[in-house]
Parts: sequence; structure tokens; C-alpha cells
Amino acid sequence: MQTIVQTIDLLIHARWVIPVEPHDTVLEHHAIAIHEGHILELLPSAEAEEKYLPDIEHRLDRHALIPGLVNAHTHAAMSLFRGLADDLHLMDWLQNHIWPAEAKWISPEFVADGSRLAIAEMLRGGTTCFNDMYFFPDETARVADNAGMRAVVGLILIDFPTVWAANADDYLHKGIEVHDHYRHHPLIRTAFAPHAPYTVSDEPLQRVVTYAEELDLPIHMHVHETAHEVDEASAQSGLRPLARLTRLGVVSPRLMGVHMTQLSDGEIAHLASSSAHVVHCPESNLKLASGFCPVQKLLDAGVNVALGTDGAASNNDLDMFGEMRSAALLGKAVAGDASAVNAARVLRMATLGGARALGLDEDIGSLEPGKAADIAAIDLGQLETQPLYHPISQLVYAAGRQQVSDVWVAGQHLLKERELTTLNQNSIIEKARQWAVRIGAADSQQART
Ligand SMILES: [Zn+2]
Repeated sequence: MQTIVQTIDLLIHARWVIPVEPHDTVLEHHAIAIHEGHILELLPSAEAEEKYLPDIEHRLDRHALIPGLVNAHTHAAMSLFRGLADDLHLMDWLQNHIWPAEAKWISPEFVADGSRLAIAEMLRGGTTCFNDMYFFPDETARVADNAGMRAVVGLILIDFPTVWAANADDYLHKGIEVHDHYRHHPLIRTAFAPHAPYTVSDEPLQRVVTYAEELDLPIHMHVHETAHEVDEASAQSGLRPLARLTRLGVVSPRLMGVHMTQLSDGEIAHLASSSAHVVHCPESNLKLASGFCPVQKLLDAGVNVALGTDGAASNNDLDMFGEMRSAALLGKAVAGDASAVNAARVLRMATLGGARALGLDEDIGSLEPGKAADIAAIDLGQLETQPLYHPISQLVYAAGRQQVSDVWVAGQHLLKERELTTLNQNSIIEKARQWAVRIGAADSQQART
């Protein structure tokens, strides 16, 4: 039999390949053939050697390849507020610390520097796509584009004026300009991002629903983050926020509802029948004592659940490995069932679940022919993950993000043996240090007055 050798860009061999689709599958001694940024085929390494002639070939004998992790909820630029105000209630944290700091510091420069720090951290942790919500989304998009990172940039909307926009018209207008600019971009997408039910009134929300329909965009929003939010809305209007959003047409397959710690069984059934998505942020919920998202109940009802870190000011890292482990552990505690939110399920939430929520599951979220080559390699040969019986369990319960060795986005090698290839790590650290000097000095002065 004559084998036809095909020339391709890249061939990555690995000890294990975990494609996520089919579910809970581990391929051993396989390779991923990649050309023009896309996956051509997953096949046994020995066959790949005969079939393909790659420009570049990697042999990762101790590694697992997984789809790049999708951080389905973050505020990237807030990495510059990491550790500024901890151990506080959500409303105290927001109203007395975060919102004043934002009013003082947010600028295009702040957002660019903070986003760059966040992207570097995420890439070093195996994240290849993030769903952002913040001011100056044009800056976050520009920085992500320059880094070669995939991002869904939130077109933020909030009732009060900020340095980014003066009112609802201005927020929407500027947001749509960002959308238009990146309309045909291969890596940058946009989503409407009304902040939360308690910060966005009915009229602008109705306009978001209309525009989202016209432009075919998702809606990314914090919903039912705390009992306080739900109780206050119920007392004021007689409606729980989710009921109000339903009335306004927000609850649909476009909705990515973030947090969702307060859900009745009826609301879970409603989310399922509406095909809305839930983004679970277990560590932010724990740190702010926001409540517990009933993840296993949502999964059982057929709701798609994605995973996010939230911003670094409320977590305090952008570590999707930590988030997977927390989601698995917390999911069991909340369900009162050790078999709940199992390792394969949680890896799926962190990859394909995020991709589905973002409407990107045709392109990313699993290692399948035709999809973009967004891949993370994890070195499971290290001491911390020995011995190894079940690679997926090891990834979720024992591995840490420092074991991520290599990352590709659309076939581009963005992390090479833990070195960033498109970002200057030293200059990012130096910029963060400079911001800390400025912000820290003003913060301690404020504390004295
Ligand atoms: Zn958030």
C-alpha cells in the first residue's frame, strides 16, 4: 500500500490526548495534525508519522493535550486591583472599594496594562479564550489581538456614567463601534454586557435585547449573584431579577447568566427550557460569600454550565485549573453527593461548556477535525502528578497551572515551554509594579483621611 504524504504546518504528539468530545475519552500515544490554524485529524502517532510531513513537530512524551480552557467570565483589567480590598461583603467591596478605585484609575492605559497582565496569566495557565466585561473594551480587544489571544469582549452597559461612557446611548453607541471594528476578526468577538439587574434599568435592557437579536450577539450579565440582590429586587418590585429579565426578553439562548447562586427548582426548569447558559464562578462566590450555584441540579436539568474565574480583584487569580478543582469539590458539597460534578464533567464545563455559552462551539471547546487549534499541553510527568492512573482526574484534582508547558491559539505557539512568545513578561511585571505604587499610595492616603 502506498501512503501519500501530506505537508502540514504542525504535528503535536502527546502521551495522552483528551479531546473532550467524545465525552470522557483519553487517547494514548496520539498526535494532532494542524494546518492553517485548524485541526485536520487526531490519529495514532505511528500513523501520523507516515501520513504527514510537518513543518514543525513536537513530541510531548509526558504530557496531556486538552482543548484550551475557556474562561467564561472575567474582568481582565481588574488584575491591577488584585489584593487591593479583600475579606469584605460584596456590596461593601463594590461600593466602598472597587467602584471608587475604578472612578479614580480607569483609563485606556489602565485597561491595556491590566488586560495584558491578565492575558499573560491566563495563557500561562492554559486558558486560550476569555469572556470579558469591562470599560474600554476597545483596549482589551486591541491587547488580546496583539497577543494572539482569543477573546469575547463585553460591550459594557451600566446606569451610571463612567470615564468610558456618559449614559445608555453612549455605552451602546461605543459598544457597537467596537463590535463593528472587530466584526470580521478571526480571534476577537463581542457580546453585550449589561452589568447586572440592579445596575441596568428596563429601557436600556430592552434595547440590548433588540440589538443582540439584530447583530446576533450573546448577552453576558451577572444574575442572582447574592441573596441580597434577589431579596432587595423582590421587596422593591415584587419580582425576582430573573423574572424581570424574562419579562424583558433577556432570558434566551443568548443569555450567559453569571453566578446564579439563588435558583429555585422552577427557575432551573425555566433556564433549561429557555436554553440559557449559566457561568459558574465558584471561587469568587466563595470569597465574597455570595452563595452556592446548584451546578449538578442545573446539569441534570440540561442547562449548559460554563466556568469562569471572575476578575482578579475577587478571586484573586485567573487560574482555571484552580477553578475546575473548586467547582468539582464545591459541586459535591452543595449536592451532598460525592459523585456530583465529576472530573470529566468539570473539564467539559471549562472547555466545551464555555464555548457553547459564547456561541463558539463550532470553532473551539474540543479537539475535533475542523475546529481551531486552541490547545494546552500539561506536563503530567512532574512529581506532583505521580503516580498516574486516570489522566482526567489528575488534571482536575492534582495538577496545577504551573504544569501547563505549551499553549497554542489557532495554531500559533503562544506559550513555549512556559515562555510567552508574543508578550514581554518582564515589562508586564514592571508595569504592574508601577501601577501598584500609584494605586497603593493613594489607597493608604485615603485610609488615613
Ligand atoms: Zn464578575
